Amino acid sequence: MNRSRLTAPRLQIDLDKVYHNAQVLVSRLNERGISVTGVTKATLGFPEIARAWLRAGVSGLADSRIENIDTLRRANVVATFVLIRSPMLSQVDQVSALADVSLNTELEVIRSLSSAAGKLNRTHGIVLMVELGDLREGIMPELMDKTVAEVLRLPNISLEGIGANLACRSGVSPDAVNMAKLSSLVDSLELTFGIVINTVSGGNSANLDWALSCVNIGRINNLRLGEALLLGCEPLHRKTIEGLHTDAITLIAEVIESKEKPSRPWGEIAQSAFGEVAKNDDTGSRTQSILAIGCQDVDPEGLMAPSGIVILGASSDHLVVDSSNYPSRLSVGDEVSFQLNYSALLRAMTSPYVAKVITC
Ligand SMILES: *Cc1c(COP(=O)(O)O)cnc(C)c1O
Repeated sequence: MNRSRLTAPRLQIDLDKVYHNAQVLVSRLNERGISVTGVTKATLGFPEIARAWLRAGVSGLADSRIENIDTLRRANVVATFVLIRSPMLSQVDQVSALADVSLNTELEVIRSLSSAAGKLNRTHGIVLMVELGDLREGIMPELMDKTVAEVLRLPNISLEGIGANLACRSGVSPDAVNMAKLSSLVDSLELTFGIVINTVSGGNSANLDWALSCVNIGRINNLRLGEALLLGCEPLHRKTIEGLHTDAITLIAEVIESKEKPSRPWGEIAQSAFGEVAKNDDTGSRTQSILAIGCQDVDPEGLMAPSGIVILGASSDHLVVDSSNYPSRLSVGDEVSFQLNYSALLRAMTSPYVAKVITC
C-alpha cells in the first residue's frame, strides 16, 4: 500500500520494460528481414516512449494523428515520421510540413499533398494501401495499376511503398494467402512500371504470428507496431508474446470508499448511468470499494484487476469493485494497480485526468 500520496489516477510507464519489448521485437523481426515502425498513437505522442523505441532500433515512428507527430517533433524527437491514417484534405499543409511519409488511398488527397509539398519545396513520400479483405482502408487490388500510374506522374510526391492493414475492422487475420497476394502485387507493379518499391508494410501487431512463424516472408519488409510494443501481447487472440512484459504500463487508482455492503441492490431496478442493468445475484455481505476512476479516464472493460479484486461496474468517475478476497483490507487512500488492454490504455493516455509518470 502506497501512502506517499502520489497523484492518482496515474499511468506508470516503466521505460526499461518499454525499451525491452521494442528491442526484443525489433531483433526478432530484423532477423527475418522486417523493420519495425513504432506506432505512437496510443501514447498521445509521448516523447520518452518514442525515444526508448528509437534506442531499441525502430526504423521510424508513425501516428494516425498529425497533432501527435507535431508533439514529437516539438519535443525534438528525430525520426522518419509516418502518418498512418489517410490525411484529411483540410490537413494536407500540416501533413506535408510535419510527416515525411503518409499512408494513402485517395488520388484526390495525393494530388492535394503534391501541391502542398510543392509550396514547401519538399517531397512527400506515399505508401499506397491495398484492400486485402478487412474492409477498412485500401485500394482494391485490381485498381492499383491505375492509381500507381497517376501517382508516378505527380510532382513532389515519391512512391515509397505499398502497404496493407488487416484485423482492425473485421478481424481478418494476416496469413500466407493475403500476404502472398501483397507480395505478388508488389512484384507486378515493379514489372509494369519499371520501378523499385522500397517498403512493403505488411500490417500491424496482428501480423506478428504470421511474421514470426511463416515459411515465406515474400516481399514484406516492414510492420507497423503499437500494441505489441506497449502491452507485450498480440491482438488476434490477445496472447502474451514470449519474452515480453505485459506490465510496461500500469494504471494506479485510489480508493475513496470501502464498506461492507449487501451484494444486492434494493428498490425498483431500472437502467444505470451507462444503460446496464445491475447484476442481481445475492452473494451476501461483501466488501465493496470505490476507486476514483471512471469512464472519463479509462475503458473499465479493459482493466485487469489484481487477484482478489473483482470489477463490479463503472460510471463516469467511479469504479466499483468487490474487494472481499483481496489479501489486505482496502482502506480509503489505498492504491490499486491494474493492467490494461489496448482500449483502456488508449483512453487513459488521452485522458487529461490521468497523470503519466515514468518509473524507471
Ligand atoms: C493503429 C495502426 C497500426 C498499429 O496497430 P497495433 O495493433 O497497435 O500494432 C498500424 N497501422 C495502422 C494503419 C494503424 O491504424
